[in-house]
Amino acid sequence: QAKRGGRDRWDTAGPEVLRTAAERLDLEHELRIAISDGELELHFQPIVGLTGQRVIGREALVRWRHPVRGMMPPVAFLPVAEESGLIVELGAWVLRAAVRAAVTSQEPGYVAVNVSPNQLLRPGLADQVHLVLAASGLEPGRLVLELTESVVLSTAPAAREELERLHALGVRIVVDDFGTGFSALSYLRDLPVSGIKVDRSFTSGLGEDPRCDRIVEALAGLGRGLGIDVVVEGVETEHQAALLAGIGVEHAQGYLFGRPGPSYELLPA
Ligand code: C2E
Ligand code: MG
Ligand code: MG
Ligand code: MG
Repeated sequence: QAKRGGRDRWDTAGPEVLRTAAERLDLEHELRIAISDGELELHFQPIVGLTGQRVIGREALVRWRHPVRGMMPPVAFLPVAEESGLIVELGAWVLRAAVRAAVTSQEPGYVAVNVSPNQLLRPGLADQVHLVLAASGLEPGRLVLELTESVVLSTAPAAREELERLHALGVRIVVDDFGTGFSALSYLRDLPVSGIKVDRSFTSGLGEDPRCDRIVEALAGLGRGLGIDVVVEGVETEHQAALLAGIGVEHAQGYLFGRPGPSYELLPA
């Protein structure tokens, strides 16, 4: 698989980066400062319609412009943010910055923000979202919250109540990396979910492993049957895009249409 650019080296270097507990503590300390000192940045990746390749939304993806280590991808610092509880502060910053970018842009589409289970398990996310929307003037329907499947979320009553509150605000909730977790289908039954993002591990097998084709086909049918949106992640080739269009998938995201970039308006590649 072709890898280029600086960020990809973290994909393999990841586990080695935080070798010792001391290094983790250092990183936690630095991250705390980074959040307040403005070292975090958002990159945005287009989500497109497969016919016409119109940009329907953008996913906000956080990066840390570290003064010494350089541009760090989320895999290099989100685990520390989760364990230290800094994810709550980081998540609040991401939400504000993403909504601000959507409001200032000329694009009519939505902005998608990743929300960690830990943000949802603490009370107050819906209040926070409500305040950010009210202050910015962004139409609630233009904010999409991406949640990854987690057993905790589908069973913790507090998390479900918070999701209901968010839904009542008019914000859309989608399940990220769909198909890789443990509770996928009960999510769709029990929670106010308006869409799924099919994990890119299924996309990479399209046209090569017939099981991947059948699974994506089934998920597209599930989406149609439930009346929820289906976005397929990690589309890298024209061949995959054509197969997806043939299957009846309407929305996709991936390097083929555009890599995450610092500019919101950046047109798809
Ligand atoms: P995700 O939400 O599933 O985001 C998609 C990831 O796949 C991004 O990696 C994106 O750069 C990458 N990607 C997009 N298209 C392609 C493609 O065609 N091929 C390949 N190989 N990869 C593609 P990134 O930016 O490194 O983010 C990784 C994960 O970190 C995200 O996965 C998300 O779970 C988490 N994350 C990112 N930003 C935030 C944030 O602000 N808050 C939280 N809680 N999590 C975040
Ligand atoms: Mg996501
Ligand atoms: Mg995803
Ligand atoms: Mg994914």
